[in-house]
Amino acid sequence: MEKLQKLIDVISGNSYHANYAIAKSTTTCIICGKPSRVFRDRSARLEYDISAMCQLCQDKYLRNNGD
Ligand SMILES: [Zn+2]
Repeated sequence: MEKLQKLIDVISGNSYHANYAIAKSTTTCIICGKPSRVFRDRSARLEYDISAMCQLCQDKYLRNNGD
């Protein structure tokens, strides 16, 4: 639940739209702030277009790996 709460905090925060614009313009991740240039496949890259989340954060927050 803790990681889900972090995701909710990011996407519901007042600065979300600004952070999203910055992340997209600098090709970084909206969650962790690291460069987001390498993606596993086209759907992961599309996900970045939508959410501005890097591959690692997509794996961590979006995919259900049963952890
Ligand atoms: Zn990230």
